[in-house]
Amino acid sequence: RFDKDFGQHILKNPGISDAIVDKAYLKPTDVVVEVGPGTGNITVRALDKAKKVIAIELDPRMGAEVTKRVQGTPLAKKLEVILGDVIKMPEMPPCDALISNTPYQISSPLIFKMLAMPNPPRVAVLMFQREFAKRLVAKPGDALYSRLSVNVNFWASCKHIMKVGKQNFKPPPKVESDVVRIEPLLGSARPNIAFDEFDGLLRIAFNRKNKTLRAAFSVKEVLAMCERNYKVYCSLNNIPIDESIATADLAAVTATDDNMDVDMDDNDNQDGDEEEGTGGMDQNEDEDEDEDMPAFFKELHDADAAKEAAKTPSRNPKSKVALVVKAKVNKVLTSTALGEKRARQCDQNDFLKMLLAFHEEGIHFS
Ligand code: SAM
Repeated sequence: RFDKDFGQHILKNPGISDAIVDKAYLKPTDVVVEVGPGTGNITVRALDKAKKVIAIELDPRMGAEVTKRVQGTPLAKKLEVILGDVIKMPEMPPCDALISNTPYQISSPLIFKMLAMPNPPRVAVLMFQREFAKRLVAKPGDALYSRLSVNVNFWASCKHIMKVGKQNFKPPPKVESDVVRIEPLLGSARPNIAFDEFDGLLRIAFNRKNKTLRAAFSVKEVLAMCERNYKVYCSLNNIPIDESIATADLAAVTATDDNMDVDMDDNDNQDGDEEEGTGGMDQNEDEDEDEDMPAFFKELHDADAAKEAAKTPSRNPKSKVALVVKAKVNKVLTSTALGEKRARQCDQNDFLKMLLAFHEEGIHFS
């Protein structure tokens, strides 16, 4: 019996198992990681072609199945089964290729885990639900363009390989699937940027992807995080906080300073074109972005609560550092000419340009 909670949809069409392994173009020297071997339909084919397969399986019954399947054959000594949740592993084992008929619950965290590896595999051939696969290859302006799309295109290249109908699985899933081939950038081709920094900026930008980036960066909690990180950065690097940038703002500050941090987009929909016809999409987006979201972003997500909070007059005068940070953020948004653009329109180069400009100002996101 297959367990739906584990996303167990076993491939029953051997042609598709063959194609997944073929499209990885394995070499006899390759170490392959397979996530979720199940009964071993893909595993045995990879074992045939590679030096070793490390199969990571959450369900011990399936771990026993795949072990039994190769027992007593020459393939047995090439197979290592690790029982456990791949997402909870501190690190994925180093490998040349990653293959998986991916359990749908871990699609997003698995991709992020692979892209964040300092030495990612040369190639990943992965099967996903079609909607998810479309998000991987979405381009700026597409309805499905998301933080995931930007990350994949920044750290790797991604190609759609084939469509797989639901009748090819036992039991059949509710939706169709697609196989994609991802080639992470390796060595000197890999961007020399911390993964969490780039992703941290994208989280802010895509938190409301239809808003202007200036609006996204005006949210109180975002500015508070920038301020915290800026203070840490200055103290770690012995940098005195440069107040000159905020001189004009400082002069305007009064002891009651009620309105300074309230510009968090109360007039969201005034520009007319926002969120038109994308209501459903946004809901999906929000669900997905929630998956591995730190508490700070969860707060951000509760738009109503955030707006209420923003309306509450601040009791404390705004700190000088807060003004410095706000002035720096505005400077970056203006100098990059990206402040009035929306995340859904920006490509990975726009985001990189913005991140480098923030770093120039000592503003960090992780
Ligand atoms: N590879 C097999 C095939 O194609 O026939 C089975 C694929 S089935 C869609 C997904 C497999 O991943 C199941 O065996 C399930 O138990 C396993 N799995 C689910 N969540 C997992 C996790 N977090 N870590 C590792 N394996 C997982």
